[in-house]
Amino acid sequence: MNIIIFGPPGAGKGTQAKYIVKKLKSFQVSTGDMLREEIKKDTDIGKKIINNMNDGKFVDDEIVNKLLEKIIFDEKKMNKLIFDGYPRTLKQAKNLEKLLNKSNQKIDRIFFLNVKKDDIIKRIEKRKFLEKRTDDDANTILKRYDTYMDVTKPVLDYYSKNKNFHEIDGSMEIKNISQKIEEILNF
Ligand code: AMP
Repeated sequence: MNIIIFGPPGAGKGTQAKYIVKKLKSFQVSTGDMLREEIKKDTDIGKKIINNMNDGKFVDDEIVNKLLEKIIFDEKKMNKLIFDGYPRTLKQAKNLEKLLNKSNQKIDRIFFLNVKKDDIIKRIEKRKFLEKRTDDDANTILKRYDTYMDVTKPVLDYYSKNKNFHEIDGSMEIKNISQKIEEILNF
């Protein structure tokens, strides 16, 4: 089963992705983690993306799409992909569909974790201390939220028409969100 977890920054996508990964013995595909790894290793990609990442701006579709390709065609991971933070633009959504088609896979479920801006700001401020992320200060948070609203909203409109789309109230307690997901996935 391939699943997309969708929602604004700080909605709890990573937490729920990890939960599903454990339950379904699948693989988390976090483009944010992959990009942070490139920066940590100071690769060519890392050097290109560091400013955008720290400014709360999106990384170019071409770079993110390229990182994703390897994973989609990895036979060990096929039909066990939990997408966390991808796709974020319509171009990425179309690219994902193309790559999945090419590898005889599909998207089985889309979860949208819906959380209001105020709740997100509070959550990210808390996470900043726990995870020591350099892109988590208040200004960056606001920028990331606005970017999300501008660029990701069309992706949400696109997916909300899909019969496998499920909207979940992301302001609920973590365990209640997990429970909702569990009910829908029936595991
Ligand atoms: P995340 O860990 O998913 O919150 O992502 C952290 C940052 O990584 C974002 O603010 C973007 O700068 C970048 N990023 C992660 N995933 C993507 C993506 N799919 N497209 C563009 N930029 C991304």
